[in-house]
Amino acid sequence: MLETSGSPVFNCQGVFQGYRGIARDITERREIERLKDEFVSVVSHELRTPLTSIRGALGLLANGVLSTQPEKGQRMLDIALNNTDRLVRLINDILDIERIESGKVTMTRQACDAANLMIQSADTMRDMAEKAGVTLSVSPVATRLWADPDRIIQVLTNLLSNAIKFSPEGSTVWLTAELVRSEQVERNSSLELLFQVKDRGRGIPSDKLETIFGRFQQVDASDSRKKGGTGLGLAICRSILQHHGGEIWAESILGEGSTFYFTLSVLPSESAVAIADSNNPLVLVCDDDPSIRDVMQAMLEKQGYRSVAVASGQAALEQAAAQLPDAILLNLMMPGMHGWETLAILKQQPSTQKIPIIILSGLLPDAREVPHPGISDWLVKPPEQQLFKALERALNGSDRHTRVLVVEDDLDLAQVLIAMFERYGIETYYAQTGREAIQMSQRVIPDLLVLDLVLPECNGFTVVDWLRQHNRLCQVPLVVYTAKDLDDCERERLKLGQTLFLTKGRITPEEFERRVIKLLNWVIRGRKEDSNHDSQTDFDR
Ligand code: ADP
Repeated sequence: MLETSGSPVFNCQGVFQGYRGIARDITERREIERLKDEFVSVVSHELRTPLTSIRGALGLLANGVLSTQPEKGQRMLDIALNNTDRLVRLINDILDIERIESGKVTMTRQACDAANLMIQSADTMRDMAEKAGVTLSVSPVATRLWADPDRIIQVLTNLLSNAIKFSPEGSTVWLTAELVRSEQVERNSSLELLFQVKDRGRGIPSDKLETIFGRFQQVDASDSRKKGGTGLGLAICRSILQHHGGEIWAESILGEGSTFYFTLSVLPSESAVAIADSNNPLVLVCDDDPSIRDVMQAMLEKQGYRSVAVASGQAALEQAAAQLPDAILLNLMMPGMHGWETLAILKQQPSTQKIPIIILSGLLPDAREVPHPGISDWLVKPPEQQLFKALERALNGSDRHTRVLVVEDDLDLAQVLIAMFERYGIETYYAQTGREAIQMSQRVIPDLLVLDLVLPECNGFTVVDWLRQHNRLCQVPLVVYTAKDLDDCERERLKLGQTLFLTKGRITPEEFERRVIKLLNWVIRGRKEDSNHDSQTDFDR
């Protein structure tokens, strides 16, 4: 926006020469004026209205209404009290939004659990819902977010309070959430949590669905009087979410209700988890008893395996050929096709003959059946921890070599480490980023992890956080090999199985090798005791 001014110019004989003009860019000045006008109108309207009520009520009380007309006096006191509350809310909201928008309030983002935030917010609002005769229905979703928990609770409570305010008595307000793939960052496959607050209230006209997110905007001018709001709540919500890189919007059908949505990005490791989980080994469970199928699937999934279950030998043949599972758990005594027959066909078919099969039977094997060339293991129902040992054996082969996963983004250093391990005949795997480390760990189940902390995608702390939550990986021995001197708190966060902290530059390569190999020897001895396999000997220098 420009402001121009001009004046005529004459020469010394007084002859008109033309105009001299100045043009000024007044965009910023206009914006300041607009803000000033808005502030004045807010102060005059929003603040004056409750102040007028307070002043009026107190004036009557001062004139002795309380003693002459106690009921009226009490009503005046209530009015003064309510309007004082409203004034306090308004001032807090105005200051809040100013501080958030000017960046004076920094969001202290941290890892937090969405389910917790949902439950806490609902608990805060339960009283209000009960008073309004509205049922609150919450379906918490346990997903880790990177957010400022207090601010997200502020958003949730504001949306819940609106939903309750505008709902009829006897209706329900729902708070739910679901994981969705982010549209903007499709390439990185990042995930977002989409929160929803839904009511069956009066609804919002379509032309107001966007404007209500502006300051002091209400659908109906009487809303603030009748419902006690300030018209700032949604503007604050939008501001908070913008600072989190999230979005907020509303959908509504007049007379039927409204749904408010907002998104928050999920902690990077959670995205990696969802992707990495599809790498988990797949186990096919074949048993005619539905309760055994359910229990086995639950046990497998808890341990980090994927599973499919079928009720007959015939279905096992079909699913094994279609899905090529990593292992099959097979019952023997089944109606129709017997387990032995199923086993024989699976071992004949080229596509399925290499899949390890574990017999899961109510009977002990007799001497003629084991060792059987087609069977990896024989478990008697109900199987407990030996199920997972049998699966690890089946998936890794009995002559499994010791495996080390090196996670290091510096390629040169990685090569030096890999060469060192290979000198001992150790099978060495390599991941360059945090996400690769998570995916590779799933596939390899290493005997030792050598981990740098500063990594692309997600850092070493996130990798350890993730591994800790997975039964098959939470005990993996770990060597944290970093340039950073770690404090006690960081060391505590990084503990996995047996954990060593070695600082790059502080320890010689020889010392590194000595300590890591010592740890590996300790690991192998533990494994030998576990499985009675003695094929592996200690690594000697
Ligand atoms: P307020 O403090 O007035 O609630 P908000 O910014 O939170 O301020 O909401 C602005 C306006 O949007 C409300 O006054 C109301 O007119 C409308 N609104 C918000 N949520 C709902 C809802 N769930 N149902 C109907 N109208 C709503």
